[in-house]
Amino acid sequence: MAQDTIWTASALRDLAGQANARPCDSCATLPSTGWETVPVSLDRQRLQVLGMLYDPLAGNPLESTLEEYHPQRTRYWSADAPIAPGWFPYNRCGVWQCRACATVFLRYAEHGGYFEEERIRRVVPALVDSAAPPPGNT
Ligand SMILES: [Zn+2]
Repeated sequence: MAQDTIWTASALRDLAGQANARPCDSCATLPSTGWETVPVSLDRQRLQVLGMLYDPLAGNPLESTLEEYHPQRTRYWSADAPIAPGWFPYNRCGVWQCRACATVFLRYAEHGGYFEEERIRRVVPALVDSAAPPPGNT
């Protein structure tokens, strides 16, 4: 798979569904299925990039919408928040996969006024929402 693959929601769900049932000891250090700051305990060398959820030719992803998609009243940090490409923060995420256990993750850098923080979220297939409308149409 090329590093410049642009993943659709359904393809991402299929990919995540191929992960081992038990995560390796590195991936198991991510205790929740919601967004987390990348823990120092995570073995980054095990992760390989498989592409992204946005089209880099469509413009700077950092200028994409900051609107979030939470039809079930979840929040940004919720472990059961839907993964909806097109919406924040999925519209700026890279797609990564563990070489050891095939677990799929999304990663992006959260920019604050004076900081930049790398965040990571495990992709749970059931949370990938391929039916989410595009932002701005709700
Ligand atoms: Zn792993």
